[in-house]
Amino acid sequence: MLNRPTFGGHINSGWGFFHSFRYFCNEKTFSMSDFLSKEERSVRMSRIRSVNTKPEILLRRGLWQNGFRYRVNDKNLSGRPDIVLPKYRTVVFVHGCFWHGHKGCKVYSVPKTNTEFWLAKVARNQERDQEVWRKLEAKGWSVIIVWECQLKKANLEETINRVSGEIVRNGETYRAAKEERRKAREEYRRERKARKEREQSLLEEVKSL
Ligand SMILES: [Zn+2]
Repeated sequence: MLNRPTFGGHINSGWGFFHSFRYFCNEKTFSMSDFLSKEERSVRMSRIRSVNTKPEILLRRGLWQNGFRYRVNDKNLSGRPDIVLPKYRTVVFVHGCFWHGHKGCKVYSVPKTNTEFWLAKVARNQERDQEVWRKLEAKGWSVIIVWECQLKKANLEETINRVSGEIVRNGETYRAAKEERRKAREEYRRERKARKEREQSLLEEVKSL
């Protein structure tokens, strides 16, 4: 098949549909403008969760080179964070400046057409983001947000260093809190043991009278 099939033209033929779908999934090359309105199209595009996007890979590579080990797109955590560092109890989200509304960002500008639609959409995304952060932080995770513009060539190294520093500090805080809890548990056990011993000796004293 030399020509790329169009979605509409092949919708009635199984094979054609398969090819169209394959192009849709793998290459995203066919034009959705043929059969979707602008709004529908943007909604659909936003649903295509961008996994392994380039800026994210650049950040991951940098962190790996700095010695960090991580899990990627952990489904068990709220919001499926892009990078998860259990040792440091830290998650990292790489956010597209437009979809997540990076404030004061040069890359992010509100489109001149359908302005209200876009503003509402971005606001919804931001609300969802904040909900996710709250859930994660409630479970003791530190959340780092990296904006895509911060991963542009000129800023990449600086961003990787900043994020690395933050991860290390989060790890220290996490370990200190863990140590604090361990000490508190130990203290509690010691006190309970001492109290039981006191009660026991008192009981024996009474018995011996
Ligand atoms: Zn930005």
